[in-house]
Amino acid sequence: MKEVIIVGSGINGLVAANYLVKHGFNVSVIEKKPTTGGACVKDSTIIENKNIDFAYGATVLGMMPDFIFQETGLSDKIEGYYPKTPKLVYFNDEETSTKIYQDYVKLEKELYEKWGEKGRVNEFRNDENKVVKFIQKLYRNATSPSVDIANDHLGKDLTSLWITGSAKNLLDHYFSSEKTKLYMGMTVIESGPASIYDPGTAFTIPLMDSGSIFDGYWGFVKTGIWKITENLTEINRRLGVKFYLDSEIQEVDNKSNSVSFSKINKDYKLNYDHLIFATDPVTPSKLINDFSNNIDLDLIGTSGKVTAFFKNPVRWKDSNNYSDSFRFIFSVDSLNSFEDASQNALKDLDNYFPGFIQVYPEGSAQRKMNNKEDFDKLIFFTKNFSYNKEAKNLNDIKEKIISTVIPHIENPEDLVYSKFLTPKDLNETFLFPKGNIDHSTLTGDQNYHKRTFSDNKDNFYSYYDYENIFYCGAGSFPCGSVAGTPGYMCSKQIIRNL
Ligand SMILES: Cc1cc2nc3c(=O)[nH]c(=O)nc-3n(C[C@H](O)[C@H](O)[C@H](O)COP(=O)(O)OP(=O)(O)OC[C@H]3O[C@@H](n4cnc5c(N)ncnc54)[C@H](O)[C@@H]3O)c2cc1C
Repeated sequence: MKEVIIVGSGINGLVAANYLVKHGFNVSVIEKKPTTGGACVKDSTIIENKNIDFAYGATVLGMMPDFIFQETGLSDKIEGYYPKTPKLVYFNDEETSTKIYQDYVKLEKELYEKWGEKGRVNEFRNDENKVVKFIQKLYRNATSPSVDIANDHLGKDLTSLWITGSAKNLLDHYFSSEKTKLYMGMTVIESGPASIYDPGTAFTIPLMDSGSIFDGYWGFVKTGIWKITENLTEINRRLGVKFYLDSEIQEVDNKSNSVSFSKINKDYKLNYDHLIFATDPVTPSKLINDFSNNIDLDLIGTSGKVTAFFKNPVRWKDSNNYSDSFRFIFSVDSLNSFEDASQNALKDLDNYFPGFIQVYPEGSAQRKMNNKEDFDKLIFFTKNFSYNKEAKNLNDIKEKIISTVIPHIENPEDLVYSKFLTPKDLNETFLFPKGNIDHSTLTGDQNYHKRTFSDNKDNFYSYYDYENIFYCGAGSFPCGSVAGTPGYMCSKQIIRNL
């Protein structure tokens, strides 16, 4: 039986373990932390004498391929849900929100009336769908991404527009209004300060819509998203995966193919045929002790998160009937100011440069799924922070974020507690090298076919030229998220190349 060691038990390590153990490998997972889950875990606090669990890192589900959800066995355990109501977008100079309808005829009308959009909204949707279908095919077949494959499937025009081109060029091609461009392009900087002028950044836009669990939309998991990794751990245990938690790796010996580690004062040494790193991309080189391959990555993250707890359900001043809609509050109103805010955070010119806040209505979604909780929860996923300070030193900024959302709420007096995380906290809490939620920034040089360490297109997940060492964390194609796609693709390629 072939021995596989997986380092890291986040969603990617867990998905890889699931596919490999089912293929007959003997799988051992070594995890530094006392629990599995990586950045998809819960945090807990006590509010008014009640113990409250909430999503520590990741909150919403959307990028997972539906086949991973089904094939891992998660679909038997997890209840999920995504809102069909329109998303609501707010700009400073507007009294009411603009509604992002799922129906494109209604959307086109709304964007024209609210933002004067005279571009090609429907064509954008149709073209994006073609690109998304193409990406989904890569996922399913575990095909390494390449420009040639894109050219073959999409043609040269769509490839240069959507895959190798810049986000700025893509947005200018389809839209006339700055506000439409901002809304449609905001995901380019979701993980970190990628410049919208950078070739290769257009790809992030369809990428973020390429999940199939909720048809490309984003939604919620009953109780909380950590149920995904909790359940997958249990499924894997039952399938025979061995977990070594709370374990500190001492040595990876790639001559004798063994890993030595200690766990509660006991030393272990395991041999491997295949060694997979499902960690951040910097950890393998440290553990292999090989710095000959110079790790030169853009790692900076600029995303922060505030979780706000209300003692009664939040009542929105605008469109309260859409209480489970995602809301987006922009502090910038042009692509130039959007780019400046993002780049200024990269340059560390100040602690916080307001860009946009994505408001996730976790509490309302839980009520929809009949999960009664003591407090309503809203999550404010916020851009742009410099990588310099922990949340505990930025209380004024937490207050600023809250005071941007609160004017939209009828019952602000019900806000009883909030928790704030900055990129620096994400580094310390989740071991993300420079706080990026995708482990490394989705710049054009680290996107699509360039999101790999390997030169070999059949061994896309190889760690440099090591034959039996692989990397499938969030820093590999396609990117992070509670999706498990890199873990799946890597395990499939290992099986295929046996
Ligand atoms: C604040 C925040 C909000 C986010 N929001 C969302 C969201 O709403 N939706 C979404 O889909 N995604 C979201 N993400 C991104 C998502 O959580 C990550 O991209 C994803 O969880 C990464 O999974 P992974 O398995 O690649 O890595 P990780 O989850 O980082 O797992 C890597 C594992 O490796 C372990 N490890 C590291 N070094 C070692 C070592 N030396 N030895 C042993 N083990 C080691 C770590 O402890 C960890 O358990 C968010 C992330 C954060 C932090």
